[in-house]
Amino acid sequence: MFARRTEFLKASEVRELLKLSDSDEIISFGGGLPAEESFPVGEMREICNQILEESGVKSMQYAISEGHAGLRNIIVKLMEEKGIHTSPDDILITSGSQQGLDLTAKAFLDEGDTILCESPTYLSAINAFKPFYPRFAEIDMDEEGLVPEDLIRKIESNSRIKFLYTVPDYQNPTGRRLSLERRKEIAEIANKYKLIIIEDSPYSELCFDNRKLPPLKSFDTQGRVIYVSTFSKTVCPGYRIGWVCAPQEIINKYVLFKQGTDIHTNFFAQMQIARYYEKYDIKEHLKSNIEIYKSRRDTMLDTIERTFPKEVEYTRPEGGMFLWVTLPESINTKELLVKSLKRGVAFVQGSAFFPNGGHENTMRLNFSGVREDKIRKGISILGEILKEEIDK
Ligand code: PMP
Repeated sequence: MFARRTEFLKASEVRELLKLSDSDEIISFGGGLPAEESFPVGEMREICNQILEESGVKSMQYAISEGHAGLRNIIVKLMEEKGIHTSPDDILITSGSQQGLDLTAKAFLDEGDTILCESPTYLSAINAFKPFYPRFAEIDMDEEGLVPEDLIRKIESNSRIKFLYTVPDYQNPTGRRLSLERRKEIAEIANKYKLIIIEDSPYSELCFDNRKLPPLKSFDTQGRVIYVSTFSKTVCPGYRIGWVCAPQEIINKYVLFKQGTDIHTNFFAQMQIARYYEKYDIKEHLKSNIEIYKSRRDTMLDTIERTFPKEVEYTRPEGGMFLWVTLPESINTKELLVKSLKRGVAFVQGSAFFPNGGHENTMRLNFSGVREDKIRKGISILGEILKEEIDK
């Protein structure tokens, strides 16, 4: 009865397990939630009232698929600050950046195409691409992000390459950031091999060391980079407002698919985000968000250092929301998760982030959405469990 692609829609074991963690008794490092303390609830209450008074009817009517004109102008300015020179015609507002990935799949993928991606990569990108029957060629990573030499190797040894999907800033799931040198190198590789790049960058503003790096797209001289981003991590995720920045020819294709999906993104929410940027200083808002995140990152790293066995390796992210843990190969994190849920702590098993499987000894920990007292408690419990497992 169902289409062949539904075979990929197996309820994820991870989600089923994490459903259990949706209770107050469980300390969950499994989600990817921004800190709720950072949401501008009071500001948005005022903005909602103003919009309803001034343009209530407009906020409730159908609107154009490309998105709110004022918001697209704001995004052009945000892109300009990052060294990307663009125009509103090159911007499409999407229902979260997740929709940007879905439209990318629809516009680009035929069965049997090869996607190059970091190893590991963002789980919901894998899920957006999989229904189109691609093959995934995973590129090695190290502390500086994806390794250009391995990218070249994989380009040369695979056929039907459609694009490189990459998360260069504080990657989900590893928290790693692609170095400046490598950004330039990868832009050159893309030109040489005529490679399309999907640059997915929801976390670039959550930078803890004041050393923001220019996006890959800022080095793009041939219109090969499709930049996808979002207000989910800077304002709030619930409004579902993201965008795609790409040459107009590509945007036009995405618009046609978007019309078949949801016609346009929630217009009232677009108006609210636009007004928020007009009225408030986003840089001040981000500064206070970053303080919360940085302090949670520090607490998680301190507690890991004190309580995890020395055999365990982990990343030390300079931004974003996640860190990545690699355990001795004898430990399977899926089994570990069952034990740790019984002791009140959740995380995501790392194997979920590898499109071709494997790497059962890894896990992702989220620090942005958990209060510091709970981070201390939860990480200490994990540390105890790990000691028991390693001493076995
Ligand atoms: N890309 C990456 C790498 C992400 O981590 C996320 C959020 N978890 C998204 C895209 C989707 O974000 P949103 O749809 O909320 O903009």
